[in-house]
Amino acid sequence: MHLTALDPAGGDLWAEAGRAQVRYRLCINAVVHGVCNGLVPADESGQLCRACEFTQQIPSLSTVDHLEYWRRLERAKRRLLFTLAALHLPLEPRARVGNTGLGFAFGADVSPAHRFLTAHCDGLISINISEADDVERERIRTAMGEPYRTLLGHFRHESGHHYLERFAEDPARLTLIRATFGEVRNGYEEALSSYYANGPLPHWQESHISAYATAHPQEDWAETWAHYLLIVDTLESAHEAGVVLGSGSFELSFGSAGATYDPASFDLALARWLPLAEFANELARSLGTADAYPFVLTDAVTRKMRVIDRLVAGLSQDPLKSSHEKTLSPL
Ligand SMILES: [Zn+2]
Ligand SMILES: [Zn+2]
Repeated sequence: MHLTALDPAGGDLWAEAGRAQVRYRLCINAVVHGVCNGLVPADESGQLCRACEFTQQIPSLSTVDHLEYWRRLERAKRRLLFTLAALHLPLEPRARVGNTGLGFAFGADVSPAHRFLTAHCDGLISINISEADDVERERIRTAMGEPYRTLLGHFRHESGHHYLERFAEDPARLTLIRATFGEVRNGYEEALSSYYANGPLPHWQESHISAYATAHPQEDWAETWAHYLLIVDTLESAHEAGVVLGSGSFELSFGSAGATYDPASFDLALARWLPLAEFANELARSLGTADAYPFVLTDAVTRKMRVIDRLVAGLSQDPLKSSHEKTLSPL
């Protein structure tokens, strides 16, 4: 959760700049492959940093370009993990705690008949590394008529499926989710087939954040969740950079453990988000690039995000505690 410059501290050790007594080793994925910038405390025996512990499968590196694609995947993954940790969501490597944890598998299609699907299953998020290929991702984005398709967006979306399963373990939370998004547990296969055969609902922009969100309530949840994380992450970046627009800066307090949920915190986030998003688009236009934020937030969509905010606040807890010590506070 901390970005720092390093000073050499002898051998393979490094120290935080200006704090010679705090020593680390570079993550083995930084040393061997150059795909990580994480550190391992010098007194720990493991070779992988906290973020790399979440990666369970990497693509074959014998193919040209795969190393660079893997690097891009890890970069997006670290950004997702940072936001999940900042929200104090339960966050433990699946390899250590099983299906309640989170893991990542990165792979490539073997052949047209043996595809590597971007998906989520039991805490394992699989991402096809072709999504890290700008040409291929842009080709799919154009073919699907999507205004926005990013590697980070895939990570956020798939993490939504994982946390939906976690929230849905609790009957009260599942009731709230069903009342807001619809029946998230049934009819998935048929709904997806129908979506790909018939396209999105007409006028979907009034009720959903994206066309794909209309495919099934689970996908509506995952798309809205991804959007919630996008807003949280970007507000955090603006605050960290000291951005001040109009009347205020962007400091927000998210998911403070044990605190009573305050719905006004979401209203405040939204009030700060809209001018920032507009500003990002103006910057993009000046730079001659596509709009940074090609979305319109309707009341129906912000109502759904408000429910996610409430659930996140309820599930947030000290991420340093192990899972069996955690208790979920009631809604
Ligand atoms: Zn690492
Ligand atoms: Zn999905």
